[in-house]
Amino acid sequence: MNWLTKAIGLGEKIKKVLRKRPSREEIESSDWTSCCKGPILKKDLENNLWVCNSCGKHHRISCRQRFDIFFGKNAYETIETPQPADDPLNWVDTKSYKDRLKIARKKTNQNCAVMIARGTINGIEITAGAINFDFIGGSCGAAESEAIIYGVQHAIDNQTPYVFFPCGGGQRMFESPIALAGMTRTTLAINELKKNKLPYLVCFTDPTAGGITASFAMLGDIHFAEPGCLIAFAGKRVIQATVKEELPEGFQKSEYVQKTGFIDLIVERKDLREKIGSILSILLKKNSDIISISDETSEDNRTLTKAAS
Ligand SMILES: [Zn+2]
Repeated sequence: MNWLTKAIGLGEKIKKVLRKRPSREEIESSDWTSCCKGPILKKDLENNLWVCNSCGKHHRISCRQRFDIFFGKNAYETIETPQPADDPLNWVDTKSYKDRLKIARKKTNQNCAVMIARGTINGIEITAGAINFDFIGGSCGAAESEAIIYGVQHAIDNQTPYVFFPCGGGQRMFESPIALAGMTRTTLAINELKKNKLPYLVCFTDPTAGGITASFAMLGDIHFAEPGCLIAFAGKRVIQATVKEELPEGFQKSEYVQKTGFIDLIVERKDLREKIGSILSILLKKNSDIISISDETSEDNRTLTKAAS
């Protein structure tokens, strides 16, 4: 059995040469992450609003990090949203859906993928919503749809605009038709917002796809997007296999989607607060420099007209 001893010995040597790859948990708990130039300290990335200094990549952020940047740290209040029963279909595949929920809740410190908050920008009270991709890929089940609709109701009750930062892969198939019904329900809720003449602004973040794109996310009065984010319904490979054509460079990235007319404006993360704030000021005719200039002009015009008469 000399050959076997030799083979085992060789295997051990190979193991020593090949470094052990870190697990997903180890990567998440590390102080480091990676971008275009290799490892980068998470602290440095955080100081730059989780945007890479070298390539400008807008890294994915949680709902709380999103609200911290949008409203300012500790300058907003999160709103508790209804919590429907977990796992109505008793779904089990490689893991049970109940276990997946437990893991996601522990990992994100959120009850569901969506969070709703209220805060103020430019003196305008805003209801805002965001999705956390780390919560089962940002997918939308009953709890997420309830949270989105609850946000709409909060906006209507308080007569505030609704600003939403979607991301995620689409409807959560562990809840099958219940998740799909969320597409219709959130669409109807957004219609109520419009009947109340309240602005609904959407800012796409990476990646937004499937039923999220196909329902409430594409119904904004104005669509913003962060640079380089993926905005899609079906994935590129699926489309390529269906149409049997090579798809163009940058297909489904926000810059491409802007050219095709689904996105109005691409805004860097650091400018989102200011840009959304000034657009809301104009739409609501509140605290806007443009409005006050035009008011002054009309005041001058009235004085001139009076003097002439
Ligand atoms: Zn980079």
